[in-house]
This record gives sequence, structure tokens and C-alpha cells, in this order.
Amino acid sequence: HSAPAPDPTAGAAVKAADRAHVFHSWSAQGQIDPPAIAGAEGSYFWDYDGNRFLDFSSQLVNTNIGHQHPKVVAAIQEQAAKMCTLAPGFAVDVRSEAARLIAQRTPGDLDKIFFTNGGAEAVENAVRMARVHTGRPKALSAYRSYHGATNAAINLTGDPRRWASDSASAGVVHFWAPFLYRSPFHAETEEQERDRALRHLADTITFEGPQTIAAIILETVPGTAGIMPPPPGYLAGVREICDQYGIVLILDEVMAGFGRTGRWFARDHWDVTPDLLTFAKGVNSGYVPIGGVAISAEIAATFDQRPYPGGLTYSGHPLACASVVATLTAMEEEGIVDNAAAIGEQVIGPGLREIAERHPSVGEVRGLGVFWAVELVRNPETREPLVPYNASGPANQPMVDFAAAVKRGGLWPSVVMNRTHVVPPCTVSAAEAKDGLAILDEALAVADAHVVG
Ligand code: PLP
Repeated sequence: HSAPAPDPTAGAAVKAADRAHVFHSWSAQGQIDPPAIAGAEGSYFWDYDGNRFLDFSSQLVNTNIGHQHPKVVAAIQEQAAKMCTLAPGFAVDVRSEAARLIAQRTPGDLDKIFFTNGGAEAVENAVRMARVHTGRPKALSAYRSYHGATNAAINLTGDPRRWASDSASAGVVHFWAPFLYRSPFHAETEEQERDRALRHLADTITFEGPQTIAAIILETVPGTAGIMPPPPGYLAGVREICDQYGIVLILDEVMAGFGRTGRWFARDHWDVTPDLLTFAKGVNSGYVPIGGVAISAEIAATFDQRPYPGGLTYSGHPLACASVVATLTAMEEEGIVDNAAAIGEQVIGPGLREIAERHPSVGEVRGLGVFWAVELVRNPETREPLVPYNASGPANQPMVDFAAAVKRGGLWPSVVMNRTHVVPPCTVSAAEAKDGLAILDEALAVADAHVVG
């Protein structure tokens, strides 16, 4: 990796301008101190002070192909020299090719691609398509989910700490999806959890009225809410319920898609085919913003002779599409999806299970591919989380101290409430993954110190 020459003066200037003028997401502006980052390559990024970090966050679980992949950088440069922008109403070589390569990987007859600028817009448009297609008003989504921060997407998100005061929840109904470790159904086995979750969903639909429900949206593997792979048979059961009532099944693969779970899509693990599939992030590792909806033949046919009521100026942006083509080609050529599967099975999974045995603060580890959660607890018996839900200030200090210890070790973690998510790029090497786990292992002493009983 190119050795970064420290330049603290430049770093201080970047920080000063940031604090003066950049308004940051999800933050109390007066309480944050965003690190200034000078560069990135592969699994690493570095600041202006000479600190280099192994990226176990993938920048909001996004850079599946790692930082600055040379083939993707070159494709963006070439496209920029050729044509930077063109309205969505034209056919463009890179847009056609990006759509073709995505449709090649999506399941069933999901062969039409509507491009957006990111995940939330993909969710907005998927729900709109379902509502127009069915003529029904409601959408069902799970508690413990994240679907984005625009109006429909934030209302669908099953996490009250995200619900903004401008949210109206119009037409959204939440239900509980399976999560055995903190079972909403007091189940003791995966089979019980699955069966009770499916019964609960069927009951919810009966009481809401099936004829009022346009769509059920689920993250195939809920990500931000805790990386919770569903029990075998759950998604197939949801598919069956949707078929029974003519409800559109939307699988949100914005975070889980494009290699993250060790398959092209997370749904590939359970072979369940949705009617609409939303994607973003890993489709081009976020080198240029893009997302989209893959659409079934039946839903696409609804808009064959009737205009689709939606569109975006930058839909299918040529720079973004060029980076999609280069990303998917490189992922194929370099076996990057298989690498994610192998690292998960051979290094991260076994490594985290060993770590869990050594540390009383680790309540559970779960995941697949390069998509893992480490659930930190104050009490392993009661499973009381290390910090309370949505904790801030002193109540959140144990997680703040844990994250600081990880960073001192040279690892950039993805900390969400009482969890650390282990989400390196899909390109991570076995040696890098082992290095990262060793740093986590050491830092967990900070969490162990809070364990009671
Ligand atoms: N859906 C899922 C499953 C996500 O994880 C995210 C972002 O993390 C989104 C939607 C929203 O995507 P974006 O932030 O690109 O709008």
C-alpha cells in the first residue's frame, strides 16, 4: 500500500472547513469530531496524522470491492472523458450494459432495472410500483429493519430512533420478523421462531385486510438492525403468504446484495424469488452514487401501456453505470464473491466463535460471508445489552470506549448500539481478516470489564 506521508496541517484545515460548513447525517452537530481522511486503498484508509486503519466497516457496508479498485477507477475516468451525463430518456451503452449485467444476476424473471441514486430511492420506487400494480394502499415491514431515510423508506424502517418528526407512517404496518437471540415470540428453537413468526405475519395480514396490502418488504438478511440471517424456511413461508393474497414481495438487498453474504444476492442462500428486489451499495461499491429496483415481468407489464409515475434526473447516470459494469466484471474475473464466502466460512466465522468463548461480553455471534454481528451484553444470562437501546451520553460510554480501543489497535469498526458488525470488503484477505479479529479480541477486554454476574 502506498505509504501516506503525514500532513497534520492539511488535516487540520480539512477538519476546520468541515466543522464550519458541513452538516452531518444523524448527528448533533455540536457533539461530533469527524476524522479527516487523506486516502484509501484496498482494505485500508488513512488519516493525515499517519494513522492507517483496516476497514472493517466498508464505509456503511458499501465498498464490497475495496477502496480504489484500479479497474473501476479507470472505467470512471474513461467514461468521464467520453460522456459525463445524459438524461434518463436516452439509450446509452454503459446504461444498457449495466442493466444487462445486473439482470443476468437477479433471480427469476426480474429482468428490468429501474435506476435510482441510492437505496432509499430504490425502496421508494419499489413500494410505489407495488401500490400502482396492486391498486392497494398499505405496505408491511419488519421491526428491526432499515430501509433508508426518505419519506416512505424511513416510515418502513422498523426502528423508532430513526423516525423523524416529519414522518407520517401513512400506509405502513410493522410486524415482527424472526430473531431467535431476542425472540419476539419467546421461542427456543429456530423452527419455533420461524413457525411463530409466520403465524404472526398471517394474523397481521388477516386483521389489516389482505385486500388493503400492496407489499411486504423485508431485508433478506436485516443488516443495520443486527445482521440476522432468517431461519430456514422463513422467507419461503413469506413468499407463500404473498402468493396466497396477491401481495408483492419486495426483498431489500441494498446492504446484503452483490457479494456481501458470499453469494451475488442473499436470497440465493434460500432460493426465494421476490417480485421486486432493491439494490445499491455493492453494485458498484458506491464509487459513484447509484441504486435501483429489479422488476419482475408481471409488474413490468403493468407499466407497458401505462406510464410509470416516477423518475429522477440522474437515473442511470453514465459515470455510475460505467462503474457498475467495471465492478461486476472485476468481481466475476477476480472471484470476489467466492472470496467473501471463503473468508466467512474459514476465517471470520470460526474466529468469531472462538472469540465468543473467551469473552463473557459476547452474547452471540452470527452472520455469513463478510456480514457478521457481535452482540455485546452486560449479562450473558439475561442477555441484557451492554448499553440500552438508543443510549447516548454516559449510558453509551462502554461502546464508545470499546470503539476507541479498536481504533487504537488500527481497526475501523462498525459499531451499532450494543453491537460491532464485522463487515470488511468482500476482497479482504485471510491475513487481513485475522489481523482485524486479533484487534477486536484485544479490545473486547474493555467490554468484558462491564459484565456483571
Ligand atoms: N435499505 C437497506 C437494507 C439499507 O441498508 C440502506 C442503507 O444502509 C438503505 C436501504 C438506504 O440506502 P441509502 O442510504 O443509499 O439511501
